[in-house]
Order: sequence, then structure tokens, then C-alpha cells
Amino acid sequence: MLSYRHAFHAGNHADVLKHLVLLQLLDYLTQKDKALYVIDTHAGAGAYDLKSDYAKKLAEFQGGIGRLWEVPPADLPPALADYVARIRQFNGNEANGPLRLYPGSPWLAQQGLRDIDRLRLYELHSTDARLLAANFKDASRQVQVTSGDGLAGMKALLPPPSRRALVLIDPSYEVKTDYATIYKSLQDALQRFATGTYAVWYPCLNRPESRQFPDRLKRLPAKDWLHVSLHVRSPDADGFGMAGSGMFILNPPWTLAATLKEVLPRLVELLAEEGDAGKGAHFVLESGAGGTLGDTPLRPERARPTVFNPRGSAGFPSNTAGRKAPRAPAASAGQKPGRPAGKPGNPPQSPRNPAATPRPPRKGPSGRSGA
Ligand code: SAM
Repeated sequence: MLSYRHAFHAGNHADVLKHLVLLQLLDYLTQKDKALYVIDTHAGAGAYDLKSDYAKKLAEFQGGIGRLWEVPPADLPPALADYVARIRQFNGNEANGPLRLYPGSPWLAQQGLRDIDRLRLYELHSTDARLLAANFKDASRQVQVTSGDGLAGMKALLPPPSRRALVLIDPSYEVKTDYATIYKSLQDALQRFATGTYAVWYPCLNRPESRQFPDRLKRLPAKDWLHVSLHVRSPDADGFGMAGSGMFILNPPWTLAATLKEVLPRLVELLAEEGDAGKGAHFVLESGAGGTLGDTPLRPERARPTVFNPRGSAGFPSNTAGRKAPRAPAASAGQKPGRPAGKPGNPPQSPRNPAATPRPPRKGPSGRSGA
């Protein structure tokens, strides 16, 4: 049974990285005058109320979007300023308005669509699937919401009629077999549709499945890949907690690496946790050509996995751009939650009477498909 609820984590540092990358992917892939299929295999509820009991319980958003909210756009790299502007749009666009809501990947994806594009959303958890359907009940026919398994949905949709697709795979990794399941699904997806762009989120945890995951994905038979991870603190000594997360993109746009290279140092600076742990904040950015060994078994874990080199001073491959992070600004508002944060592990139980997750505002004039 699924127990993960994204409402506890919405807007945290992992969402910032994931949604920033998602927007960049959409920006690039909607430049070509040919329909794009966007498939969100693990869509969540679609919108989150940051004043709800869920969000307030761990207040993870304070260490994510909360850190960026008050920063003047001129002090952010353009891609990061654009991301914050989208979240402001979701919050009603008030100048200096408070941060009350956070959109999920479905709304962010919808905003990037043109009339010719299609969005397919899947959610397995019955409560979140109901919320997702309610949040998108007024959406145009280009958006379809399915209550069900997104990996099976992806399989059925590939290849899309237009032969152009962006697939976001953002599981909760509640069980450790999720990693192997995602890997197998990607193998199958690449066989069906080798040229699609696949973006996979994963948590950076002190567990073999997590540590080995990017290296496994590098061997999938895609043309090329890009791997980015953002770590807001040193890994906890007890091995619990999510100090960072990564996005692994198969067949990425060629522009993405340069954009991320510009954004990541600033993101590390802004999101690094306070105190000594925050000194371990860093990012990893690497890219390469895909493998041909999509079916090989897991190799033994390497002694020093690239993504867990905490200082970036040694062990990074030459195409890795991670550097040690400056300390967090003294005025930053983030705080370390008192229990393991992030998706995996031991998600807290849902409050009994959850506040209804809000519906996203209708598309504003800046939504491309509405123009
Ligand atoms: N992508 C969302 C976003 O960025 O706003 C967040 C998604 S959340 C991290 C993961 C979601 O996947 C959870 O809501 C969980 O219920 C759902 N889920 C888990 N297994 C699934 C599956 N096989 N198919 C579809 N959804 C699944």
C-alpha cells in the first residue's frame, strides 16, 4: 500500500531542482514546431497548500522555495528567476505576496504546453489521484488524468504519434525495488522510443540502491545523458535523511548543461543548510554518451561514488562541475527538520482531516497554449 504523500515535502530543495530542470526541458522541447507529448508518470496531487497541516509538519518548503522567495529576480540567474516567477504566478502573482501555495509538476508542465502538445498525468495513490483529477477538471482535452500506474501508462503511450516526448519519472521510492523497476521501465521505453527525453528524479541517500542508481542509468542505451545532483548539507552520520537529490536525463537538450552550470552555484549558496552540515553542500553536474549495456546486472558498489564526494575536491570525473559550496547566508530561513526528511524512509502519517489541496489557478495570459 502506498503511504507517501507529496504534500509533506512540496517545495523542498528536491522540488526546486526537479521543477527547475522540468521547466528548462519544456522550454527547449517546445521550440520545435511539432507536437510534444509530456508524460508525468508520478504526478502527485498537482497542487499543494503550504499552510496545510501536511506542509507545516516538516516545513520542508522553507529550505527550498522559501529560501528563494524573497530574493530579487535580478539577483538570480535567469533560469532560476523564471522558476520563481512561475511559482509566484501560481500564488496569484501579487507583488511581494506571501508564499502560500506550491504547484506540482503537472501544473508546471501544463503552463509550458502549446495547443499542439499533450499532457498525460498518472497517479496511483487513490486520494492524490482524486485531488489531481479535481485540480485538472477544467483543463482542456489536451490534458488527460489517469488514476493508475504511470509506468504502465508510459509503456502504452510510447512511441507517441508525433515521435516527440518528454517523460518525467518522479517516484516516491517507498520500496527499494523501485530503483530496479524504474531501470527496467527505462530499458523498455528506450526500446520502444529511443529518441524520447526521459527525466528521472532520485533521492541521494546513504543506501546502495540510491548511490548506484546514476551509474546504472549511465549504461542505458540512450544517445547521451546528463546527471545533476544538488546536496544541501553533508550526509547525516546516521545514514538517514535526504541531504540531496538528483535528476538524471536521458537524451537531454544540448543547452541544459550550460544553463545548469550557471544556476547551480547560486542554488547551492541559497539552499545550503545553516551550520557545519551546510558546509557539505555542493552540486554535481556531469554528462556523457549513453551505454550499450542496458541489460547488465548491478556491478559492485564503487568505493567513492561520484555523487557522494562531499567537497568536490577529488574524485570527480573531468566533466563534473561540482564545487564546494559557500556557507548559507546568515539570514536564510531554512531549518533542519527534526526527523528524516524527503521522500523515502519513514514518511509521516497523514493528518486525519487534511486541508483540501487547492486547485491551481486557471492559466494566465502568459500560459503559452492560452496565447
Ligand atoms: N511529480 C510530482 C511533483 O513534482 O509535483 C510529485 C510526485 S510524488 C514525488 C510521487 C507520487 O507517485 C506519489 O504521489 C505516489 O502516490 C505516486 N506513485 C507511486 N507509485 C506510482 C505508480 N506506479 N504510478 C503512478 N503514481 C505512483
